[in-house]
Amino acid sequence: MEYVKITDVTPRDGLQDASGYVPLENKLALVKGLYGAGIRSIEATAFVRSQRIPFLADGDQLLGLVRDLDAEWVALVPNPKGVGRAIRAGADTVTVVVSASESHNRANLNRSQSETLDLLRESTLMAHEAGLHVRGAVSTAFACPFEGNIPWRQVEKVTEAYLRMGVDELSIADTMGTATPLEVKDRVSKIRALATKLPLGIHLHDRFGWALANVAMAYEYGVRRFESALAGLGGCPYAPGAAGNLDTEHLVMFFHAQGIETGINDSLLKPVKNDLIEVLSKHLPPPNFSDPG
Ligand code: ZN
Repeated sequence: MEYVKITDVTPRDGLQDASGYVPLENKLALVKGLYGAGIRSIEATAFVRSQRIPFLADGDQLLGLVRDLDAEWVALVPNPKGVGRAIRAGADTVTVVVSASESHNRANLNRSQSETLDLLRESTLMAHEAGLHVRGAVSTAFACPFEGNIPWRQVEKVTEAYLRMGVDELSIADTMGTATPLEVKDRVSKIRALATKLPLGIHLHDRFGWALANVAMAYEYGVRRFESALAGLGGCPYAPGAAGNLDTEHLVMFFHAQGIETGINDSLLKPVKNDLIEVLSKHLPPPNFSDPG
């Protein structure tokens, strides 16, 4: 039977731009719920300055509470300082991220692409020394809120930089949720030709309802790793107009309907999603956190 790996990014991508704060106990319930439904790869948080994303400032505590469950615990990190927090908190994998678009990179990370790649090189080294796995993510791999369609050359440039720094896997993101299946075919086949040995994942947002068509195309061209969020929550706070993520439940059902196994029980995701939506509907403000050193 064919198998795909799904990484749920709800606690990170889904909640970073949420309209309300999800308290730690509810995040814990969310993560345990995802785990209980069979999800074994979860991007739990981002280790960025709390000022930048206050909704995720409790990531160290959250990871500390779930790290003993047998799953791949993923944290997004922008720099070596974030890697240090990920190591201390017990993450298995760090997602490092650079935008194919220079202007989105500046908006999202507050520095140039080349400065970002320097930091990510150092971050990758540090993560590898501590035995962590590194996922190199390319955001705005299709379109950018400021620059429009992104030429392949820009994606190629950052992919090559990731290959040189020795990341363990690649992931391309349709940050705006506007990619078409033909664009997915183009990007995926070109990256796979460039990075023949590395696993390739795809992170889709879903502006027009095209995300599952993009999933089908990515699968057809060899992608077996997919990232998604419950209820399609999420969107980049530094990409104006970005759509929410591809919905985890829909993604799981889509694969199961075609006899492709995910290891996830989609009916167990529903109560987890409903509980989360109930918390979000309260529109709680984030508490004041201070950053750990
Ligand atoms: Zn996303």
